[in-house]
Amino acid sequence: MDGVILRHNHPVNLLDLSYEQLAELLAGWGEPSFRARQVWGWLWRRLADDFEAMSDLPGSLRQRLAEVSRGWTAVPGALQLDADEGTEKALLSFPDGEAVEAVLMREGARRTVCVSTQVGCPVGCAFCATGQGECSRSLSAGEIAAQVLHFARRLAAKEERVTHVVVMGMGEPLLNYAATLRAIRNLNHPQGFALGARRFTVSTVGVVPGMRKLAKEGLELNLAVSLHAPKDELRAELVPAVRRWPIRDVLAAADDYASSTGRRVSYEYVMLAGINDAPVQAHALSGLLRGRLAHVNLIPYNRIAGLPFERPPDERVENFRIILVQRGVDATIRRSRGTRIAAGCGQLRARSAG
Ligand code: SAH
Ligand code: SF4
Repeated sequence: MDGVILRHNHPVNLLDLSYEQLAELLAGWGEPSFRARQVWGWLWRRLADDFEAMSDLPGSLRQRLAEVSRGWTAVPGALQLDADEGTEKALLSFPDGEAVEAVLMREGARRTVCVSTQVGCPVGCAFCATGQGECSRSLSAGEIAAQVLHFARRLAAKEERVTHVVVMGMGEPLLNYAATLRAIRNLNHPQGFALGARRFTVSTVGVVPGMRKLAKEGLELNLAVSLHAPKDELRAELVPAVRRWPIRDVLAAADDYASSTGRRVSYEYVMLAGINDAPVQAHALSGLLRGRLAHVNLIPYNRIAGLPFERPPDERVENFRIILVQRGVDATIRRSRGTRIAAGCGQLRARSAG
């Protein structure tokens, strides 16, 4: 595929390429083999966003790189900051005018970037802002990785680094499987950004074929599965698009993931008042998960204007957690960060680059 793009001299996003593809591109231009490592280092380790900065490359090569990649830079737009928390949200736009939001969270020494994988989301969960509009397209690997590099550059100015990446922004990563995996592999590459596989968490709504594939990648990524209900009937109302994968199959795929990677799977459960927060549902959930290598993250609902849901009172969420723990299922309550700048879980939306 990339061969075709390159042969026709179409613009290319260099961040879409694997190390091997970059090496092939440069070799095709007659460059010596060490250039791949140099260019890769500039893009992924030294975080250059301008070819002129690549000072140890010959001018002719810098120019050629700039020519093939013309128009393929993600343009950081509006930035919103919650100064108390240190959470930042950035709108990044792409050459075709589409845009996504990405978030940087600071917690102790952790610097976590939350990335989007699609412009909108085709799953359409009833409680999620992203799921309410159209999904205009999936992002490419380079567009996903660019969100991490954007914040990495901001942090580098303070001699800080991105320590974790969570694939929990807009979109369903396992419905954009190849690009998501390429972005992770590129960010994981030891000659470049070199972020360890265990520093990534991929959150899925339970796309079973994607989960099965991920288990075979040989990468120790953390997997989070958005469950939201202990019974298929309720789950189908909240997450209509995944009706074809019953909870039983989702759990079996998660077990398979845990056994092939040795990583504990976490389950996300958005707490919606009067819908999935009753003690009887906590009992049912514990019945499903007991004995599994699992952890539950209860996420109190973040309000989305126009949607008919409410966040349960804190005691109700805590009571739900206690039932799970008493019945042997590890559970914590996740306080969303960045809600004051609409950067909390489920609050990201596509906005026109305008
Ligand atoms: N599509 C993937 C990843 C992105 S959503 C997935 O659904 O897992 C990341 C998490 O935010 C999911 O667990 C999702 O259920 C949760 N979420 C969505 N809308 C929310 C809301 N309004 N309040 C709290 N959490 C929400
Ligand atoms: Fe998509 Fe996840 Fe939002 Fe559901 S919760 S609509 S899967 S982004």
